[in-house]
Amino acid sequence: MEYSPQDEILIEEKWQELVDACRKNKVCRKEDDWDFVRRAYFLAKEAHKGVRRRSGEPYIIHPIEVALIAVREIGLGKKSVVAALLHDVVEDTEYTVEDIERIFSPKIAYMVDGLTKMAGVFNADSTEQAEYFRKVLLTLSDDVRVIIIKIADRLHNMRTLGAMPHHKQIKITSETIYLFVPLAYRLGLHAIKSELEDLCMRYRFPEEYAEIKRKIDETEPERQQYIERFMAPIREVLDRNKFQYEMTARVKSVYSIWNKMRRKEIPFEEVYDLFAIRIVFKTLPFPSEKTQCWQIYSCVTDIYTPKPDRLRDWISIPKSNGYEALHSTVMGPDGIWVEVQVRTERMDDIAERGFAAHWKYKHASISQEEDGLDKWLRKVREALSSPTESAVEFLDNFKLSLYKSDIVVFTPKGEAHSLPYGASVLDFAYDVHTKIGSHAIGAKINHKMVPVTARLNTGDQVEVITAESARPKAEWLDVVVTSRARQSIQDYLKGERQDNIEYGMQLLEERLKDRNVVLSGRVLRKLMPAYDCRNKDELYSKIGAGIITLDNLDALLKENSSTKILKFWRLLLPGSKEEEDVNLDLDDVAPTLDDTIHHRVEEPEYYMADCCEPIPGDKVVGYRDPKTGRITIHKSTCDTLIKLAAQAGDNIIGDSEIKWSQQKAVSYLATIEIQGVDRAGIILDLTRLITTDFNINMRTISIHSHDGIFEGTIGIYVKDIESLNSLLDNIRHIKGVDRVKRLLST
Ligand code: MN
Repeated sequence: MEYSPQDEILIEEKWQELVDACRKNKVCRKEDDWDFVRRAYFLAKEAHKGVRRRSGEPYIIHPIEVALIAVREIGLGKKSVVAALLHDVVEDTEYTVEDIERIFSPKIAYMVDGLTKMAGVFNADSTEQAEYFRKVLLTLSDDVRVIIIKIADRLHNMRTLGAMPHHKQIKITSETIYLFVPLAYRLGLHAIKSELEDLCMRYRFPEEYAEIKRKIDETEPERQQYIERFMAPIREVLDRNKFQYEMTARVKSVYSIWNKMRRKEIPFEEVYDLFAIRIVFKTLPFPSEKTQCWQIYSCVTDIYTPKPDRLRDWISIPKSNGYEALHSTVMGPDGIWVEVQVRTERMDDIAERGFAAHWKYKHASISQEEDGLDKWLRKVREALSSPTESAVEFLDNFKLSLYKSDIVVFTPKGEAHSLPYGASVLDFAYDVHTKIGSHAIGAKINHKMVPVTARLNTGDQVEVITAESARPKAEWLDVVVTSRARQSIQDYLKGERQDNIEYGMQLLEERLKDRNVVLSGRVLRKLMPAYDCRNKDELYSKIGAGIITLDNLDALLKENSSTKILKFWRLLLPGSKEEEDVNLDLDDVAPTLDDTIHHRVEEPEYYMADCCEPIPGDKVVGYRDPKTGRITIHKSTCDTLIKLAAQAGDNIIGDSEIKWSQQKAVSYLATIEIQGVDRAGIILDLTRLITTDFNINMRTISIHSHDGIFEGTIGIYVKDIESLNSLLDNIRHIKGVDRVKRLLST
């Protein structure tokens, strides 16, 4: 559609905004530079002529906005502005990379090519997509600017996401959570990372978002008063010492508040660190900027008492994404803990604008030393050049590596190893050498014996103890956080597992033969749920590995396995009929998909995801398997779902299209976690409440007691979220029970 005069005005205004931003940031120094940028604008405008975005805006507004983000919010230079303006030209129009090379330069053509390839990544199916992404990441090691412009592109798309249909919103927000947020974090683009998280939450959890936003606004006046009270004495001291500074209060982002509420299971009112105080100051030529930071810290702690274990010195050891600052938490008026961050203007620039600013200062300094970011880039390059893993695994591991390097630990000889926050002895062992990792049996941390699963802290000195006979264990996968350790363990287990499956099957067949029973689907359907296995392979390999001993085989074979419905649910999906009540013969429904197909031919097939165990009342999203057409239902917070939507988002069925319907006869599996003070008879009270008072079937119960404390999990079958909540309320009132909650695997 032809652009109207109003459209033309809008375009001209946006372009002027970009010109002003370039001028302010001194992006173009010579007339030649201006000519370069102008040519890119005219080409993009011409190429996208007459095209509109879904929101109705002329398309060219989008590349200008992306260029604006690159200049204003990230601080990139002229080449990036040109590449940003051209980023969709090859993808969406007749122009080719060769045209760009001819009109601009090989460098610009190379960047636009990288951006064009990135655009293709998210349209391919999941395996192809991962393979593609890996290739694209190769550009990351050559030119990080390509990825940064892609992040800017994503940010603008997220800002305008409202115009997209719901299932697209899920796809796009999932990609954002899965990849762009970690990338932005890794590249130190802090402000952009927070904004992306907030935007994702706004589209995925609109009610929760609005609720927290409302509470932040409501408490604002009260908070402002407090902040003034807190700052006044600090201001006085800093002024007296002639510091040139700016002191501001930063309220946490909606997303990070929500995250904290969920992680700690606390209401909004109990999030005590809603805001932090930030002091950004101009450095004097003398003494060193680090010393000046400590001087300010000292001024603050003369007034307010610091919490000793909350001092973070990111100046002596900057974060691996380049972040530098001094953080401490002090006791403010009314006994409230307040975080105070101290930074120089340079540090602030790096913290806000990340990579670009980082390079600006790096080139200015004489130091040629490899820093955190360089190291990370080198590791990415190494990972990319050793293709030992499948593309999907690579992507998962790569994602893992994005949040890397936050603690520093030492070998007995004093050699430093930087590892991600939360790293265990095993991660350290594998980091030293694969052989040390796979034969580890324990360690000494600061000369004290610990198991291999122990977590490390910055400054720890670690000596790994190995034994020739020791082998990697599957449980290690729950402990390790580095991709290197994970990959080595998986490689080992894969080899072992295949052997176990064959051996396990053979073993089971023999044991059944002794009893004149043939290994059939019927038998498997009895055994799998009884041993808590999701599929045949898991059952066989656990038998093969000796995890399942088959001691109670006789009892299990006799038991009537079909009294409980395991995985059969009723949801209203597009195309299914609500009024038609499915007639379920409970005794006939066994927990396998084959049966599900058998019983319901005319409706779309769906089943509940094992990873997050949704039950009626939960907010859910569907994923349609592109091959079988089968639909898996996940909770919309589920990590697996986010990954699926990020990798194959076209198969997502949005939560506005799926409705729970009444289906009283069916039960859903939920797992509850319980903790308390041990006393005689408590288990009895528990089981009596669940089975007699609530008439709820239990599937599993596992309680451990130690040092007078008990803790454990109970798997139960419930109708819906209300009956579950009411049960939880009642359990909470049992004497000795301290904590009980539904176990959320996400
Ligand atoms: Mn774009």
